[in-house]
Amino acid sequence: MTTTRTIHNFSPGPAALPAPVLAQAQAELTDWQGRGYSVIEVSHRSPQFVQLVQDTSARLRRLLDIPDDYQLLYLTLAATAHFSIAPLNLSVASDRALYLNTGHWSRKAAEHAAKQVRVTSVDIVPGKAEEAEKDIDPADYAYAHFCPNETIEGLAWPARPTLPPELSSSLPPNLPLIGDFSSCLLSSRLRIADYALIYAGAQKNIGPAGISLVIVRKDLLGKARATCPPACNYALQAEQDSLLHTPNTFGIYVINLVCKWLEEQGGLAAMERINQAKAGLLYQAIDTLPLYRNGVPNAWRSRMNIPFQLANPELDQSFLQQAEEAGLLFLKGHRAVGGMRANLYNAVPMASVEALVEFMRQFAQRHG
Ligand code: PMP
Repeated sequence: MTTTRTIHNFSPGPAALPAPVLAQAQAELTDWQGRGYSVIEVSHRSPQFVQLVQDTSARLRRLLDIPDDYQLLYLTLAATAHFSIAPLNLSVASDRALYLNTGHWSRKAAEHAAKQVRVTSVDIVPGKAEEAEKDIDPADYAYAHFCPNETIEGLAWPARPTLPPELSSSLPPNLPLIGDFSSCLLSSRLRIADYALIYAGAQKNIGPAGISLVIVRKDLLGKARATCPPACNYALQAEQDSLLHTPNTFGIYVINLVCKWLEEQGGLAAMERINQAKAGLLYQAIDTLPLYRNGVPNAWRSRMNIPFQLANPELDQSFLQQAEEAGLLFLKGHRAVGGMRANLYNAVPMASVEALVEFMRQFAQRHG
């Protein structure tokens, strides 16, 4: 059954994928590039699949400008799994790690890591930074962990994180930095060299759920604890080009199509401009229409995840219901925050943001 109604998908993740990607995946699901079989019916060790992995890696390396001394991995693991296994892979030198708290997901990462390492948490949210240890000596810590885009609160950090002024002006440059890029990888340009390790669940900007990307500096490989399960050991996966075990083959295939689509859009510099324009339009509506508000200070506003509240929360239900009737889907805010949230990942077109803003204007007129 197909629907003829126009819908706009603002889902937090799994999220919208580019329409041409879905159309191609559908068209060749039973006949992959004229071979007579599906991409999900072929051995992950066959030359044609190995070639697909290599092609995908070459495209990701070009898109993200990944330096040669970094390894790219595809792992059949959720981002949440990396909360636990990144510590196992990187904590041989010291069993202490520094966690920069920015919101829900970085706190979760710290909580899970605390089962593996001794965690020091530093709250760095603007206006909420807590007094903490005065001088951070990099020699004391195996790494620092950071989430540059907090999906639930809609908080983003422009570049390498800074610590609250009462602590120090910046992180020690030689302290390896781990970034949870689950909700922002591929949405804008990024200096990979600022990070020792980047991980991201695929289901927002990269591909379907059930696969994650890891980008790790090669000199950090081979330092995992003996207790690290082999399938979760980045070095062992790197040795086998992520084919230590059967990977999520369909996931890698869709990531390949997403990379091609990103190239057609003009790469990450173009995506960054488009995402800036999309988010700019929505924030402008939130800031100018009196019915709506977003409490995040301008400098920290995410371009991917935009929470907003109604001046009168009693209208939340009718807003969501009428939005859904207008084809504007999945706008309910996370239960931890309430209100609404529009997730503007790469595959959400400007036309969807325009439709949302127009709806918000009309709703405000009816209820202003
Ligand atoms: N980190 C961030 C920043 C996220 O947004 C999410 C999911 N929304 C996760 C981690 C957890 O992802 P997963 O469900 O793949 O474990």
